[in-house]
Amino acid sequence: MSLVVQKFGGTSLADSEKIISAARKAIRASQQGNQVVMVVSAMGKNTDMLEKLAFEVNPDPPAREMDMLLSTGEQVSVALMAMAISSMGFSATSLTGGQIGIKTDSSHTKARIQHIATDRIKRLLDSGNIVIAAGFQGIDEELNITTLGRGGSDTTAVALAAVLQADTCEIYTDVDGVYTTDPRILPEARLTRQVSYNEMLELASLGAGVLHSRSIEFGKKFNVAIHVRSSMSDSEGSLIVDHGHAESLPVSGAALTKDEARISILDVPDVPGTIHQILEPICNQKITIDMIVQNIADDDTTDIAFTVPGNELDQAITAVKPVIKQLSGKLGTVDDQVSKVSVVGLGMASMTGVASRMFKALADKQVNLQMITTSEIKISALVPSSQAIMALRAVHNEFQLDQGIATTQGFNFDPDKKAGIDAQEVVDRLQLIGMESMTIDDVILDEAQSRITITRIPNQAGAAAALFDKVAEKDIFVDMIVQSYSQDRYADISFTVPRHQVQIASEVANEFKKHLDCQSVESQEEIAKLTVAGIGLQSHTGVALGTFEALRNCGINVEMINTSEVRVNVVINGKQAAPGLECLQNYFKNFNW
Ligand code: ASP
Ligand code: MG
Repeated sequence: MSLVVQKFGGTSLADSEKIISAARKAIRASQQGNQVVMVVSAMGKNTDMLEKLAFEVNPDPPAREMDMLLSTGEQVSVALMAMAISSMGFSATSLTGGQIGIKTDSSHTKARIQHIATDRIKRLLDSGNIVIAAGFQGIDEELNITTLGRGGSDTTAVALAAVLQADTCEIYTDVDGVYTTDPRILPEARLTRQVSYNEMLELASLGAGVLHSRSIEFGKKFNVAIHVRSSMSDSEGSLIVDHGHAESLPVSGAALTKDEARISILDVPDVPGTIHQILEPICNQKITIDMIVQNIADDDTTDIAFTVPGNELDQAITAVKPVIKQLSGKLGTVDDQVSKVSVVGLGMASMTGVASRMFKALADKQVNLQMITTSEIKISALVPSSQAIMALRAVHNEFQLDQGIATTQGFNFDPDKKAGIDAQEVVDRLQLIGMESMTIDDVILDEAQSRITITRIPNQAGAAAALFDKVAEKDIFVDMIVQSYSQDRYADISFTVPRHQVQIASEVANEFKKHLDCQSVESQEEIAKLTVAGIGLQSHTGVALGTFEALRNCGINVEMINTSEVRVNVVINGKQAAPGLECLQNYFKNFNW
C-alpha cells in the first residue's frame, strides 16, 4: 500500500471550514487506497499571536517556555483535524511530536531533529487510522518540548515522509507551487513544474523558497519527492525531486535578497589564516556571511570584502573591529544599501556564456555590479538597493523565465525509480548520527583549471558584461568568477577557465585591458580548486570557516573563495594541490557519511 504525507500550513487551516476541507483531502487520499499521515501547522496566524503574547509579558522570554507556548498552536490543529475526520466517519488519531517520538537536540526555538520513532505511527496506520501529526515540534532528552524554528512544519513533514519511506510528501499551501521568482516582487513570475533539490536549496537559502529550507535538505538526503500544491485548488503544483525539468536551460529561477550590507576590510596581511581570523568572530555571533571576496594582493597585503544580512551589520562590525586592529588593517567602505540578485540553474554548470548574458542584461539597464560571485549552479551580483527590482526583472526577462518553464508538460519523474540510494540504509545511518547533522558528501580536487586576474578595471556599468561577452565569444567555459570592489572607482575581476584555454583567455583579457585602460592582467596557470560538497552548508554556519581554518592549520593560503548552500569552493596555489586535498579530507572526515 502506498503512503502519502500531506502537510497543511496555517493559511490552509485558518478557520473551521478550511480544516474540514483539508480533512476531505486526506479522506480522498485514503479512499484512493493510500495510508495517510497529515502534518499540520498552527491555525492561521496563531503562532504570531502566541509570540506576541509572550513578548507582552516578558521582553526576553526564556526559550524553553517559548517552545512550551508555541507548540500549543499545533496541538489545537491536530485535535480539531482528528475531530473533523471522525465526524465524516473515518478513524483518525492525533499525535504530538513527543507522542510520535520526534527526538531533537535541546536548542530551544531552533532545535534540530535527531531521531524519529516510527512504530506508533505504523501501528495506527495499519489499523486503518489517518494519523495527524503536530508539525514544528519535538522533544529533547529530558522530555522538554522543543520547536524547529518558524516555518518548521515543512521540515516535520518531509522528515516523517523520509523515515516512513512515503511515496510522496504533499505540501499544501496558499500558493500554487514553486515560482521562477517571488511573484510578490515580480508579477510576471511563472510556476515551475519540476525543480531539483539543489536548485531549491540554493533558492531557499536566497530567501526565495516557499518551503522551510531544512525540509529540502531532508528531501535531498533521503530522496523524498516533495510536491508543493495549493490547498485552494486542484492545480497540479510543483514537484521537487533529484532532477529538474529544465536542465537544458541555463537558468530555472531568480532571486532577490533585498537587505544586504557590504563590509570591506583593507590592507590586512596576505598570509594563511587572515581570512579565518577576520570571519571567525562574525560566525561566532551566528551571523551568516554570504559573498566573500578577496582581492589579489599587489604587495604583501590584501583586501577582503563580504556581505552580511543588513540588520546584522552593526553587530558584525563590532565583532570584527578588534581583529582589524590586531592585523593593522583598516575598515574600508561599509554600505547597507545593497541587494543581491542571483540566478540559479543546473544547466549553467555545463554551458558557456551564461554569466555574460546576465551581466549584459544588467549593463543594458545601467546597473553597476559591486561584487560578483559564482558557484556551479548560481551566479550572484551585488547591486545598489535602489536598482534591485529593476535588476531582478532584467535577469528574469533575459532568461525568459517570464515565459514559463515547461509548464505544459507533466512531471518527468518515475516514483518507482527513485535514483540511486538505498533509502532505508540512509535513514538508518542518519538516525544514528542525527538526522539533521551536517553531511559532507565529498571533498573534490580540480587541477584542470587556470586563473586570469584583471586589476583596476574602471568601475562602470557594463565592464563585466563586455569582458565576459568577449570570453563567451571564444567559447571559453568560465567556472568561478569573483569581482571585488576597491575604493569605489575600480574593480578587480578573477575568473577560472579550463587550463587548455588559458592562453586564449589571457589574450582576450589583455585586449580588454587595453580597451578599458586597466592596470594589469595576470594569468596563473597552476591553480587548484578544492570543493567541499554537502548539504546545508550555509545553515550550518561554519563550513566555510572550517575550510579556512583547516587550510590555515596546514599553512595554505586561500586565493579565491565562493560559497553556496551545497558547495564551498576555494582556489589555492597549484603546487599545494595534494596537501590541500589531504588537509580538507582530514578536517571533514568526521562529517562524512
Ligand atoms: N506554526 C509554526 C510557524 O508559524 C510552524 C509552521 O507553520 O510551519 O512558524
Ligand atoms: Mg510555511
